[in-house]
Amino acid sequence: GCREHAARMAAALARLDDVVVAAHANPDGDAVGSLAAAGHILRALGRRFMLYARPGLPRYLDFFTLPAPLYTSLERPPFAPRAALLLDCGEPERLGPELAALLPRLESVNIDHHLGGKGMGSVDNWVDPDAAATAQLVGYVALAAGLPLTGGLAQGVLLGLVTDTGGFAHGNTSAAVLALTAHLVAEGCDLADMRERMDNTWTLGHLHLWGELMGRAQLLEGGSVAFCPVYLEDFRRHQAFKEDLEGFVEHLRRLRGTRVAVLLREDAPERCKFSLRSFGPVDVRAVAVRLGGGGHRNAAGGTVHLSLPAAQAALLEAIRLEERERSAGAEEGPDVAKNPESG
Ligand code: 5GP
Ligand code: MN
Ligand code: MN
Repeated sequence: GCREHAARMAAALARLDDVVVAAHANPDGDAVGSLAAAGHILRALGRRFMLYARPGLPRYLDFFTLPAPLYTSLERPPFAPRAALLLDCGEPERLGPELAALLPRLESVNIDHHLGGKGMGSVDNWVDPDAAATAQLVGYVALAAGLPLTGGLAQGVLLGLVTDTGGFAHGNTSAAVLALTAHLVAEGCDLADMRERMDNTWTLGHLHLWGELMGRAQLLEGGSVAFCPVYLEDFRRHQAFKEDLEGFVEHLRRLRGTRVAVLLREDAPERCKFSLRSFGPVDVRAVAVRLGGGGHRNAAGGTVHLSLPAAQAALLEAIRLEERERSAGAEEGPDVAKNPESG
């Protein structure tokens, strides 16, 4: 079970040295929390490590203290990396091209909770799609290594749990998540303080951007798809940043009768990032995979090299195809709703 995996990982980490600890690009709370917690574990194990994530922390995580400087490039590392600990990431491409290129020459361990993650670690892997957050798994590794879940280690685990469960609201909020969180709180973690520092960081431009996007949201496909496009120009006009969109798609999902929420963000004239959300058996990961992305059943995303209108058409087509396949499959037998997951 989980305990054996955690113990095996603790042993694997103790054998690595000169480690690049890395998470997926544009790191979210789980990526950052996992990075921090893993750094604390490696320090306790006496390993030399550096933290790496591109292009750095999002502004809403400014408050969060990491155990070491965060590198956003591998051009001038503090030591020649010999190993990598890969967190919250299922594919080398999501680590960014620099680390993806270096990876074949490193011993690597992968800890992740993405469905369909290949387990890209060359030495060992722990990929558990039933975990709510990668930070949850890292927390278990710490416990298996005999480390108390206190201080920055505990903060990292808590950050990942809070963000990937949507504040303990998504379907991945299992008894195990709540038990681990209870342990963290009992050890002195302040949940409300973390929320306060993370949530109340908006600029007026951020608020105005949301206002404009809420006014722009549409219902498509007979009301089953909530859709909102975001243009490059929107960020300029409001002096806002793409990370200010974090959480917006969850509001699209709130529309009554919606099966899929789609936020489509223009990143360049011919490049768009999409975010998909669903509930229960509706599998948006399958939709994202059709377009080269990935994620979890109820929270998925990806990037397409298309103009925004072309990306919109491609997404709606992929959703239709997926719904058609699902209803065809449903005739053969009922689909059992699995744990919805996110992050
Ligand atoms: P978000 O929509 O919040 O950016 O991402 C939701 C989830 O979708 C993420 O937690 C991640 O699992 C997945 N995801 C987002 N973007 C990508 C991507 O470009 N590639 C892959 N494989 N998964 C992604
Ligand atoms: Mn993540
Ligand atoms: Mn995650």
